[in-house]
Amino acid sequence: MYDYLVVGAGLFGAVFARQAADAGKSVLVIDRRDHIAGNVYTKQIEGIHFHQYGAHIFHTNHEKVWQYVNRFATFNRFTNSPVANFKGELYSLPFNMYTFNQMWGVTTPEEAQAKIEMQRQEITTEPRNLEEQAISLVGRDIYEKLIKGYTEKQWGRSCKDLPAFIIKRLPVRFTFDNNYFNALYQGIPAAGYTKLVENLLHGIDIKLNLDYINNKKELDALAKKVVYTGAIDAYFGYQLGNLEYRAVRFENELLDQPNFQGNAAVNYTDAETPWTRIIEHKWFTFGKDEMGKDLPKTIISREYSTEWKLGEEPYYPVNDEKNSALYEKYKALAEKETDVIFGGRLGEYRYYDMDAVIASALECAEKELG
Ligand code: UDP
Repeated sequence: MYDYLVVGAGLFGAVFARQAADAGKSVLVIDRRDHIAGNVYTKQIEGIHFHQYGAHIFHTNHEKVWQYVNRFATFNRFTNSPVANFKGELYSLPFNMYTFNQMWGVTTPEEAQAKIEMQRQEITTEPRNLEEQAISLVGRDIYEKLIKGYTEKQWGRSCKDLPAFIIKRLPVRFTFDNNYFNALYQGIPAAGYTKLVENLLHGIDIKLNLDYINNKKELDALAKKVVYTGAIDAYFGYQLGNLEYRAVRFENELLDQPNFQGNAAVNYTDAETPWTRIIEHKWFTFGKDEMGKDLPKTIISREYSTEWKLGEEPYYPVNDEKNSALYEKYKALAEKETDVIFGGRLGEYRYYDMDAVIASALECAEKELG
C-alpha cells in the first residue's frame, strides 16, 4: 500500500511526488501517456530539444521556486522576445518603445504615452472585457494589429467575451526592452524539461500508459490517498456537463536549413493566417546542441488553436464566466471527495504558468506533509 498515488506526471504531480518521497512517504506516479513531464515534455530530434506540446519558457519572480527548480536542472539564459507578424509587417513584443516606434514612428516615451492616451479616451468606464482592457492599456491601433486577431484565434471567442485578466499577462513598457516577461529569473532547462521532471521523479515508482479513470477502483486500492492532476470534470464523469478547453494542434516540419525565422517565436496576429504562431525550437538553446555545436537543421511548429473535443488532449482552460461557474460546482464536489487532492492546470481548471503550478504543488505538499 502506497501513501500516495499521484495521477499525472506533469509538474504538479512530479513536485508533489518529490516532496512526499523526501518526507519519507511511499509514492506511485501514474500517467496515461507513454512519457513523463505532461505538457512540458521535450524530446531530442536531430540534437534539438523539441517542445512537443508547445513552447514552454520558464520565468518567475518567486525566489523559492527558482531555487527549487535549480536543484533539478541547469537553466540557460534564454529570454523570450517574440516577434509579431501582421500581414507581413513585423513588430516587437511585448508592447514597448520598439513597438510604438514601429507602429507610429514615435521616438520618445512622451510621444508614445501621448498617442496611447489619445486612443484610450474611447474607454470611459472600468474595462469589462479583454477588448476594453486592451484598448485602455495600449490604444486601438495596437489592439487591432497585435491583439484582436491573435487573441480571437487563440481562444475562438470574441475579445468582447473574454476576461480582461488574460491581456494583463503582457507587459506594457515605455522603455526599449523586448523581454516578454517581467520576471527576475528566466530560462530553459539546458538538458530539456523531460530531464528536469526525470530528476524530480528520481527513485520514485512510475507507471506509464495507465489511465486512472478507466481503472479507478483497482488503482484507488493501491494507496491511502490520491493526488489527481487530470481534468476535474473527467474525474466526475462529466456529470454536470463538460468544461471547455482550448486544444492545440501542431504541424511540425524538420527543415534542412539552419535558420527559418531567426527567432524562437513569431506570432501571426492577423485574423487571416490560420495558425497563431510558429515556433522554431532550436533558438531556445541559441541554435546549439547540448555540446555547444551549431545545429545544421531546424524544426518548426505551426500552432493551430482549436476547441477541445472529448478524447483530445486539453490545453488551456477557458476562464470565462460560464466555465468558471461550472468549475465552482465541480470544485464543491471535489471538496466532498475525501482522500483526494485536486491540483494543477487541469485539476484546478486554471491558466497556470509553470512557476505558479510549482509554487502551488509545494504549498499543497507542505500543508499535506507538514
Ligand atoms: N497576446 C496578444 N498578441 C500576441 C501575444 C499575446 O494579444 O502577439 C495576448 C492574447 O490575448 C493571449 C495572451 O496575450 O491570449 C497570452 O498570450 P501568450 O502567447 O503569452 O500565451 P501562452 O500561450 O504563451 O500562455
